[in-house]
Amino acid sequence: MTEKPQLKHYGEILEQLKTYFPVPVSNPIMDGYFVHTISNFLDYVDKLKSTAPLLGGQQKIHYELSFKERFPEKMSSVEQVIKLLVNYCQGTMICAHPNTQVNVIPPSTIPSITATIAGAIYNPNIISDEYSAYFAEAEIQSIAMLSDLIGYDPELAGGFFTFGGTGTILYGCKLAIEKLFEGKAMKEGIREDIKIVASELSHYSRLNVAGWLGVGTDNLIAIPTTSDNQMSLIALEEYLRRAFESGEKVAAILATLGTTDAFGLDDLAGIVTLRNNLAKEFNLKHPPHIHADAVIGWAWLVFKDYDFANNPLCFEAQTLQAIQLSLKYISSLNLADSLGIDFHKTGYAPYICSAFLTKNRNDLSLISRKPQQMPYLYQWGQYHPGIYTLESSRQGSTALAALANIRLLGKEGYRVLIGHIVAMAQILRRKLENYSFIQVLNANNYGPVTLFRVYPKNINALEEFQRELKDPGYQKQLLEYNRYNRCLFDCIHERTMRGQGVLLSWTDLYQHTDYSKNTSISAFKSFIISPWTDLKALDLVVEQIVLGCQEVCCV
Ligand SMILES: *Cc1c(COP(=O)(O)O)cnc(C)c1O
Repeated sequence: MTEKPQLKHYGEILEQLKTYFPVPVSNPIMDGYFVHTISNFLDYVDKLKSTAPLLGGQQKIHYELSFKERFPEKMSSVEQVIKLLVNYCQGTMICAHPNTQVNVIPPSTIPSITATIAGAIYNPNIISDEYSAYFAEAEIQSIAMLSDLIGYDPELAGGFFTFGGTGTILYGCKLAIEKLFEGKAMKEGIREDIKIVASELSHYSRLNVAGWLGVGTDNLIAIPTTSDNQMSLIALEEYLRRAFESGEKVAAILATLGTTDAFGLDDLAGIVTLRNNLAKEFNLKHPPHIHADAVIGWAWLVFKDYDFANNPLCFEAQTLQAIQLSLKYISSLNLADSLGIDFHKTGYAPYICSAFLTKNRNDLSLISRKPQQMPYLYQWGQYHPGIYTLESSRQGSTALAALANIRLLGKEGYRVLIGHIVAMAQILRRKLENYSFIQVLNANNYGPVTLFRVYPKNINALEEFQRELKDPGYQKQLLEYNRYNRCLFDCIHERTMRGQGVLLSWTDLYQHTDYSKNTSISAFKSFIISPWTDLKALDLVVEQIVLGCQEVCCV
């Protein structure tokens, strides 16, 4: 005989369940419980911190066991689940850690985290101000302040927050397509081949964008880059001339300002001039739309009106020069027809926090739906971005987190954060260049990222690297050096995980060789983004490389 189940009226459980949520009406005791819960969580996580740049050290992950997880029958408690969450934080990289130089993943400021919590509690949906009230205003104000920073006319420019840098590129290309087809592609689809042009070092999200928009990745044109990782204007002109002469349709040119691996900067002003001249020459009715992928480089704009002569923040001469050389290209962002900004990269905000801006907000009418197509929305209120966004629901906290950081840091704070990471990267380069067996690869890119390649101690790196680039007969040796670098990287990585080094990252493809698209040169990558990165951490990077070279495992 099976036992009779114990009966419990659901109302009793409901009372308990209410304690799982923040209270909707004022109740300081329950608010105290909420704060206490978060505070407990922070205490637990704090215990996971060490000299290693990870919470709780490296984790061995067993996905096989994960597949065996089944949906639980019973409720759990807030306390139990909070402890469970702490387990899931283990092994996570601490991006603010002085010993982290991994990628463009920033620590978030306290106000931007608070904005994110506000959004998490109240779920303001900026599909329309009917649901999000002043969160919608935060979006409008953030876009206005960013337009001002860029040099767009805030009265004419438009924009909104979206799902990542990838989303900004998607919007840029979608606008480009609709401009080309006068707004008809939305309804009729794309009925012919059109091209999207970008540098070969532009972010791979272009592949998603071309694929998902129905352009097709075969219609992506990759323009070769110079040794400074910049799109070759000569090659771009050659391609565009050929395209226009043969009647090919070019919807968009993507200019990257701050490539992900090397901080390469495309010559946006040059690209715009070229587009304008060719549009005239070929009498183009719809010249290509130019979208600037500035998701990393935008933050340098805070230096546009810095007093470089008096240098009130006392940056070193070398830092000033590096910033000015980057600004030479970044300050032209106002010339782009649209652009993308990631606050979750060089803006020091939590994921996902990306802004898409267009110089001319009227362009958004090309991607707008009619309100009649969304009958249950837009009954009151005045700001309805849901009419033109791809997303339906959008989290209002993203706009608020961006606004929080803009207000918190201003140009002054961003200058210090960006200035510091550039200064640190400059010093790291100088330190690495002291060793004849280390080759800094992106020497003429002046951002926070340094790519370098290491050779055995008796080797002259510069000569060897030149040969690797140019000599097809040297391919076998090149692959051997790739292996050597990877081995060294793995040794250092392993040591770092034990708390004895700086966490770096790796790129399989820094550059192709001059002679073949199939031979890639791999490299170490240091991306400095933390305000806690200091000289000690830089010394540690050099030390671990030099020490690693002496180890037998990689000979
Ligand atoms: C990171 C990055 C992207 C993609 O942005 P997500 O926010 O990751 O979607 C696009 N372009 C560049 C240059 C990037 O560095």
